[in-house]
Amino acid sequence: MFSPGLVVITGPMFSGKSTELIRRLTIAKIAKLPVQVFKPARDTRTASQICSRDGCCISAINVSGPADILELAKDARVVGIDEAHFFEESLGTIAMTLARSGKQVIIAGLNLDFQERPFACIPELLALADEIVQVHALCTACNERLATRSQRLLGGQERYQVGDTEYAPRCLHCFKPS
Ligand SMILES: [Zn+2]
Repeated sequence: MFSPGLVVITGPMFSGKSTELIRRLTIAKIAKLPVQVFKPARDTRTASQICSRDGCCISAINVSGPADILELAKDARVVGIDEAHFFEESLGTIAMTLARSGKQVIIAGLNLDFQERPFACIPELLALADEIVQVHALCTACNERLATRSQRLLGGQERYQVGDTEYAPRCLHCFKPS
C-alpha cells in the first residue's frame, strides 16, 4: 500500500482532500511507518497541524518552500504534503527525489484556482504521479452534480486567498468564471 512513489490527491474545495490525506497517513502511522507531514507556511489557518473539516487533525511542519522538505523528511518512509497549490516553485523535483529514495509521497492540493486555471505546481505533480486520487464535492448550486471547481463568492482577484466562507464547490455547469 505504501510502495515508493508519488500519490496526488486533487479536487475542488470542500471535496475532502485533507480527509483522504489524513486517512492514508493514519493507516501508515498505525503500521508504525515513520511519517512526516508538511504544509506551506503560507496557509495560516492552522498552526503546526493539518485538519479535515470533520475535525481530524495530524501534526505537520510548516515550511516556506519545497526545498526545506528534503532535509526534514529524510527519516520518513511516508511523506504527506497538504495545500500543495500554495507552493509556487516546483515541488515535482523534490517529490521525485523523495520517491526515488524509497518513500511514498502523498500530496494534496487544489486542481484549479478560482478562475479555472490549473493551480501552481499541481498539473506537474499530476503528470509525475504514480497514483491520482480525484475527489469531488457536491455542487451547492444545483445540489445534483459532482463539483470539480471552486467558485469564489467574495473577495478580489488575488490568486491566493485563504478562507472557507469565500468559496463554494461548483459543477462545470454552475461554475461562473470571474
Ligand atoms: Zn451544479
